[in-house]
Amino acid sequence: MVKVASLKNPSQRAELETIAKQIILGDRRALARAITLVESARPDQQNQTAELLQLLQYKTGNALRIGFSGAPGVGKSTLIEALGLHVSDLGLKVAVLAVDPSSTRSGGSILGDKTRMERLARQPTAFIRPSPAGATLGGVARRTREAMLILEAAGYDVVLVETVGVGQNETTVANMVDMFALILAPGGGDELQGIKRGIMELADVVIVNKADGELEKVAQGAVADFRAALGLLRPKYTCWIPQIKLVSALEERGIPDVWECATIFKKTIRESGDLRRLRAEQAKAWMWDEIRQDLVENLLSHVSMADLTSQLESQVLEGTLSPKQAARRILARYREA
Ligand code: GDP
Repeated sequence: MVKVASLKNPSQRAELETIAKQIILGDRRALARAITLVESARPDQQNQTAELLQLLQYKTGNALRIGFSGAPGVGKSTLIEALGLHVSDLGLKVAVLAVDPSSTRSGGSILGDKTRMERLARQPTAFIRPSPAGATLGGVARRTREAMLILEAAGYDVVLVETVGVGQNETTVANMVDMFALILAPGGGDELQGIKRGIMELADVVIVNKADGELEKVAQGAVADFRAALGLLRPKYTCWIPQIKLVSALEERGIPDVWECATIFKKTIRESGDLRRLRAEQAKAWMWDEIRQDLVENLLSHVSMADLTSQLESQVLEGTLSPKQAARRILARYREA
């Protein structure tokens, strides 16, 4: 195991090594502690997280990582819970993480407020974690990626990442998983309306949910529409054509099919070498994300910057100063700080 070199306090170092060993042995308390550490915004705890991740690095990368996105109400939680239960029945350890930056407008979170996935939560081998509150998308993304690695070190076979389909969330999640699933539900008239082409292009599988009762026929119609739409898109991989799956999460129909699709997908992109390339690219992008985010946090933490940033921000808001000029002035002051 890699020895921790950069933490000054030897007892802290020993403690992290113990936590790492316990995580690898599957100890849930150590896992919960590590996830709490990951979610902490304190710089000293972020240092500890970095060291812990380095200790666990050799045990990571083994899970099948799947991202799910869809508008509120399409049935994401219901579907993820059904899939989680199916995977759990197959004897696999499954974790569910959420990427749901709290809305700055409403102050609340879309995914976090509901009582979530109670049946799955009762499974001894399942782990469910809502988004940490009050974080920006960048912050949530960072913590979700880190939590994912810790879960992999703890032997989780499948990590399901849920996000609400708004703004940048989809791209962020697609960039941290192996397979990206877009969930849709019939009912809104023209089913394709409102789904951006860019989001469709991210999808390795499109899941049409609520294929039951009165909605079943509409759902079938939606599948045909999506098939036609997907056919027009530029493919992500030469070895994989995005699949469309018709399911009823509520009645737990079509769920094994979704799981089978995910396992075939992973096998296919692993054999073609695409998985290795995808993960390497993701790791590189992650490194640069970390750098960007740390730089911004560092800049904002300088007391001498606060007045200038708020003053220039107001001028940008009023339209009296160009964003570019404001950024240049802030960076110039930061270089002197
Ligand atoms: P989310 O907001 O995307 O996470 O959606 P939820 O999983 O909370 O589901 C929203 C509503 O749709 C709930 O009332 C569910 O019971 C319902 N729902 C979810 N899946 C299905 C389904 O397969 N069929 C039907 N008819 N309703 C469903």
